[in-house]
Amino acid sequence: MTLPSDRSEAGFEDFKPPYTPDQARVEANRCLFCFDAPCVQACPTSIDIPGFIRKIATDNLRGSARTILDSNVLGMSCARVCPVEVLCVGDCVYNEMGVPPIQIGKLQRYATDLAFDEGWQFFEAGAPTGRSVGIVGGGPAGLAAAHRLRRFGHAVTIYDQRPVLGGLNTTGVAPYKMKADRSLEEIAYVLAIGEIETRLGVEVGSEILPWEDLVAAHDALFVAIGLGPDTLLDLPGAHLERVIGAVEWIEQMKTGKVDLADVETAVVLGGGNTAIDVVRELVGLGVPNVEMVYRGTEAGMSGYAHEWRAAREAGARGRWQLAPVGFEGAGTDLTGVRLVRVDAHKQPVPGSELVIDADLVVMAEGQSKLDQAVQALHLRTDRGRIAVDARGATSQPFVFAGGDAANGGKEVVNAVAEGRDAAVAIHEYLTTMEGR
Ligand code: SF4
Repeated sequence: MTLPSDRSEAGFEDFKPPYTPDQARVEANRCLFCFDAPCVQACPTSIDIPGFIRKIATDNLRGSARTILDSNVLGMSCARVCPVEVLCVGDCVYNEMGVPPIQIGKLQRYATDLAFDEGWQFFEAGAPTGRSVGIVGGGPAGLAAAHRLRRFGHAVTIYDQRPVLGGLNTTGVAPYKMKADRSLEEIAYVLAIGEIETRLGVEVGSEILPWEDLVAAHDALFVAIGLGPDTLLDLPGAHLERVIGAVEWIEQMKTGKVDLADVETAVVLGGGNTAIDVVRELVGLGVPNVEMVYRGTEAGMSGYAHEWRAAREAGARGRWQLAPVGFEGAGTDLTGVRLVRVDAHKQPVPGSELVIDADLVVMAEGQSKLDQAVQALHLRTDRGRIAVDARGATSQPFVFAGGDAANGGKEVVNAVAEGRDAAVAIHEYLTTMEGR
């Protein structure tokens, strides 16, 4: 699938512009190359951070990129989308000294962008093993698993219901962090290892492709189907035009054009990172008034504080301890949101209803769980997620799982780590199995 060049996300600038070679060298030379480096402990993919930074400092840029991509084949997108402030950068020892921490994400971006620009490929497929793995879901977990399994020499087929690979990396990342076309370029790099078959636009579990066919076709399965569609509030007026779920809206904005021409006031419901992303995107797209409405307090938001600070600085407003109870409209047009004040226990305060103007409401109230795979494959669950051990093994010996479907919704880098580690576990399973 080719993405249109005039899609809404196209005009966003990078919020962290890339380093020049001189800037990268200077920053790399500030690193203390700590023994037992806390930044490495904070990275879910355990990249040898002092190792790759030292290679930048000594002009071994190929070696630096290889070190990163060996641990995290999606290291280029993770450099852009990781919340480094609460991961590696947040744990850099410089924080304790009152000195600005090393900008690990920007250095990682510098090395991995160079690898892409120069076309450096470091990994080859292993000798064919005659074993085959079906990967359901072509997001970060599925891609990381596919690449590692090819390094082991197993045949791999990725199935995805979308017409593009990448999952939320392609359709859900805030465009000031990464645009969809960069995600697709990274995917081309991953697929360049060769012979990763892709079947896109197919829904596993449908009549066309039942789960049983996958079980019969492959020696093992990796289920990385992510989360389901937006959870939509079933409130009066929710059918009005321009009342939409956040994941759907973001996907429209990243892969096509969203019409905001006559939107004066947009209201985003929720207090998580997706809500903050939508707020920043709406401000960036020129909507004059953008308000986030959240049931809890500002301090109790689940979204990252540094992201909300950036949204506020960009011009967004927040309203706290308010819950939606309905949407107001004229005909099919949305005109406002009916809210009620809630107390510290998020219980409605009687007689406190109010209506605020809105021409667009985006609900960022979370995503539903996909349970079809669970039922079809008879997988055990844990709090609505596919239950897995530390290496992604499920309750069925030939089925492994990872990413949001198993962790409930974490960062891209968590999904990559889980996909990579599950691939190692699948490899062990395949090399010890007698054949089914
Ligand atoms: Fe370098 Fe900071 Fe990591 Fe130490 S903790 S190795 S100074 S990036």
